Amino acid sequence: MFENLSERLGGVFDRLTKQGALSEDDVRTALREVRVALLEADVSLPVARQFIKAVEKKATGAAVTKSVTPGQQVVKIVHDELISVLAGEGEPGSLRIDSPPAPILMVGLQGGGKTTTTAKLAKRLKERDGKKVLMASLDVNRPAAMEQLAILGQQIGVDTLPIVKGEDPVAIAKRAKTQAGLGGYDVYMLDTAGRLSIDEELMSQVEAVRDVTTPRETLLVVDGLTGQDAVHTAENFDTRIGISGVVLTRMDGDGRGGAALSMRAVTGKPIKFVGLGEKMDALETFEPDRVAGRILGMGDIVALVEKAQQTLEAEQAERMMKRFSKGQFNMNDLKMQLEQMIKMGGMGAMMQMMPGAGKMAKQMDEAGMDDSILRQQIALINSMTKRERANPQILQASRKKRIAKGAGMEVSDLNKLLKMQRQMSDMMKKMGKMGKGGMLKQAMK
Ligand code: GDP
Repeated sequence: MFENLSERLGGVFDRLTKQGALSEDDVRTALREVRVALLEADVSLPVARQFIKAVEKKATGAAVTKSVTPGQQVVKIVHDELISVLAGEGEPGSLRIDSPPAPILMVGLQGGGKTTTTAKLAKRLKERDGKKVLMASLDVNRPAAMEQLAILGQQIGVDTLPIVKGEDPVAIAKRAKTQAGLGGYDVYMLDTAGRLSIDEELMSQVEAVRDVTTPRETLLVVDGLTGQDAVHTAENFDTRIGISGVVLTRMDGDGRGGAALSMRAVTGKPIKFVGLGEKMDALETFEPDRVAGRILGMGDIVALVEKAQQTLEAEQAERMMKRFSKGQFNMNDLKMQLEQMIKMGGMGAMMQMMPGAGKMAKQMDEAGMDDSILRQQIALINSMTKRERANPQILQASRKKRIAKGAGMEVSDLNKLLKMQRQMSDMMKKMGKMGKGGMLKQAMK
């Protein structure tokens, strides 16, 4: 599945990976091709646009590490963005089927693969999760459909609700509910009737069934080969019935994988499973990272870039450590530390980890230094010029006044900040001498 999109993007990235350096123009040109590829893969225009915009924003100005080419870097960004669009909440393939008997409502258009998927899923629940499952067909218009489910049930060893002629869907649903309760079933699955297209009668019928059973999951089964139509179908069913997830069928065919991407972006509902054939075990959980990898066909590059990024971070930390141990600790460094402290849950946590800083932490605590003060200090640093941040010792009275005013604070506040920066600088220097950065490294972790 997804071969088409994969090949298209693969071609684009081949060209990219052959380039040494990537300018903003190159990123844009490459992404234009990605956009065409997405559209040809039947991703809807707004979704493709939104996707490209997100990637462009992340690609432009992204740090390019030494050991990979900018093209590879873009691949990684496209890959991450694909995952972020494709991924839903919760574990892939997870269903809310606690509190037995849990009803699962299967909805969709005729021919989408609803009955087949109902049986496939029942088999999966039985074999993988050890659940006792009851299936019921509500398709009163097509007796053949009811027969089909009964035959599949026999084939996979899952019970089906006995067929009673002349019953309406709501009555069948109620009977299934009662039977599921009496028979000690964990799950009962309701295979609703399909239509060739969405109509009022179909929708109100499904609504009525929903209201008497309150399904734990309402899964829409759609033919993945129908691309944009599948997305429209999903929108319609979601608005009217409220779906909890999607099953994309026929993903074994030469489908244009874009349906999955649009489906997620447009409906916001997770794709829980994909159908990969007519056989009863041709159902797989939908794995965003695997699908993204397949779309790009470039899993190795992603791993490479991840590793390179780790190396880069380590290199940066090393360089920083070297500067600190020489007592070079300026306002930029302090700002970074302050931001880090906020992220780590405040002052205390950070200072506790620095040997010899316990006393300072206590002083800060006594002075009532909390996150709001950290933020005020960051505001003061933001109010400084680039030169002032790098060389805080040049701050004289007039500069101080300007900076304090810019941050809406007093000069005395700025003086406290400067004192803190000097203390930190001294401390770093001392620690650097003590253990060749070893201790500092420890404290920075
Ligand atoms: P329903 O009308 O929605 O209940 O559709 P059915 O379950 O009867 O399926 C219609 C046809 O599609 C049947 O011939 C199924 O075998 C076939 N089908 C269902 N799911 C898949 C799938 O994932 N891949 C393929 N290749 N065929 C499928």
